[in-house]
Amino acid sequence: MSHFDQDAVKEKYLAERDKRLVPGRTDIRDLARDEHFARFREDPFTPRAERDLVADDVDVTIIGGGIAGVLAGVQLRKAGVDRIRIIDKAGGVGGTWYWNRYPGVMCDVESYIYMPMLEEMDYVPTRRYTYGEEIRRHVQAIAEKFDLETDALFHTGVTRAEWSDAAARWRVQTDRGDNFTSRYYVLAVGLLNLMKLPDIAGMEDFAGHSFHTARWDYCYTGGSADQPLDKLNGKVVGLIGTGATGIQALPPLAAAADHVYVFQRTPSAIGERGNRPTPPDFTRNLTPGWQRERMDNFQAIMLGKPVEADLTDDGWTQHYAKAQHAPRWKGMTFEEYMARAEELDFEIMEEHRQRVDVLVKDPERAAILKPYYRYICKRPCFHDEYLDAYNRPNVTLVDCPAGIERVTELGPVVNGKQYEIDCIVYGTGFEPELTPLPRRAGHEVIGRDETTLADKWTHNAASLFGMMSRGFPNLFVMPSPAQQSVVTVNYTHLAVVGAEFVGGAVRVLSERGVKSFDVTATAEDEWTNKVMESFTDPSHVMAACTPSRLNNEGNPGAISPRNGNWGRGFGDFFGYRELLEQWVDSGECEGLELS
Ligand code: NDP
Repeated sequence: MSHFDQDAVKEKYLAERDKRLVPGRTDIRDLARDEHFARFREDPFTPRAERDLVADDVDVTIIGGGIAGVLAGVQLRKAGVDRIRIIDKAGGVGGTWYWNRYPGVMCDVESYIYMPMLEEMDYVPTRRYTYGEEIRRHVQAIAEKFDLETDALFHTGVTRAEWSDAAARWRVQTDRGDNFTSRYYVLAVGLLNLMKLPDIAGMEDFAGHSFHTARWDYCYTGGSADQPLDKLNGKVVGLIGTGATGIQALPPLAAAADHVYVFQRTPSAIGERGNRPTPPDFTRNLTPGWQRERMDNFQAIMLGKPVEADLTDDGWTQHYAKAQHAPRWKGMTFEEYMARAEELDFEIMEEHRQRVDVLVKDPERAAILKPYYRYICKRPCFHDEYLDAYNRPNVTLVDCPAGIERVTELGPVVNGKQYEIDCIVYGTGFEPELTPLPRRAGHEVIGRDETTLADKWTHNAASLFGMMSRGFPNLFVMPSPAQQSVVTVNYTHLAVVGAEFVGGAVRVLSERGVKSFDVTATAEDEWTNKVMESFTDPSHVMAACTPSRLNNEGNPGAISPRNGNWGRGFGDFFGYRELLEQWVDSGECEGLELS
């Protein structure tokens, strides 16, 4: 083990944190309304087609055609539902994989557990960690197989959805003038669906080109997600952001542009990727049910549960799970446990820092690229070419822990130095999962007594199972972080659970001839109280963290217990799933008022 001088390490971590905890750090431009950057919202991938207005009646409307929405559609189809209408602002299904087509885009969760329904679709991913386009096509293939596109409305945003007790239906209006009714309404709007554009002084003055990574402009850069960006020849590019997206986009940018300036606020911890093609005999010894087993195995490890073998065996299970669940032994005091956890975290981070030294030749650059914070403070990243890009003479790393000072017509200014560039690529991520659901939904959801979901959740979430809310009959919300369900790194896994519940619940309700349901006040209070009781305040560890999405940008104490998980920490994933399965199997519709 490396020498662990606890005090010195803490001091260094706090000093690095303080460089980043600066006023204005979280200022963003509201891309939902921003007129200057309105073109950032446009879909560069699919032309918008004219179509007739719809004014009909469907069984279920699903807002969002990402993995969660499509899986909900599949389970509803299996439950015998006839008319299922997916609505999405995108030009097709895929959700995050529809929009994020930046060069090098890849899923850093193993494809065998991330890509849903592999067995049913008889599909074997080409690689251990697969590229975005393969995932998008897979989601599309699922949608086609279950006929989820016939009734879908793409390039369409819902403006208003209102429940009518008289009709026992939702009335849905869209930005294209559609006005139709639906028995059920499912919000599957995603976790990180709103692009985050920082508010940097002067950014409107920039005279060059700019775009966000979630709307990559291949007309400008040339190439594609896996082909060289040939139009960048002769161009100087500024990449802002070194999170999971920025690190994947840098190698292709560096290979194509004359020069790339990378503006780094916080270095990510970059673990080894170890990607490889799927071996031809991958499925030879697999028995039916293998994918659920593999997902469960990963999830069990991530929750610190004992398993016979680590089937994924990667940075998530080797580092993230261990950092979250340091080993305990009998008689260990809380202080001893915390000290051991800190030491273990230090060892993991040291390994990451040493990796930088091994891979980056210039020691000055290496020093700036080393992450000084606890591993649990920030979402880790994994890549095998990113750090090597800093050995290229056409890549300059610009250290800006307090952010970019301002942008002029020529480009960003940091520490008084003007960087002259042709194009700014904003790899600045997304509004966090903590963003209230009504904002992520982007439209008014109006329940009984003209109460909106935003009104009802003003003082945070109130739900049954994190999926239904009193006063909003026949509404389902796909389970998400900060919404009274559970959290997982492999979001597909949770989407599977949520989709099975939605399909199962609708089947049970229709078998019983139910026209509408609402959650009882008692059931909602009980669920919400359980969530609040199991809430563990992350402040004592997270306050010393570098600011990040995981700690509410340095303000972990402001996370509301009502928006917690069902079960301590990340929540009790397996207990939650069992509870939902039992609810469906019993057919009792416990906790609901039926009419
Ligand atoms: P992130 O939020 O992780 O990163 C945004 C980057 O932009 C950070 O480096 C951030 O710095 C920087 N930034 C933000 N504002 C400014 C500013 N004003 N000045 C300078 N720098 C700024 O977004 P990503 O798109 O990288 O990733 C978002 C999430 O999407 C991931 O956490 C992950 O959940 C998901 N994702 C998953 C992938 C996968 O493989 N499964 C791949 C890509 C994304 P700082 O760190 O200081 O905040």
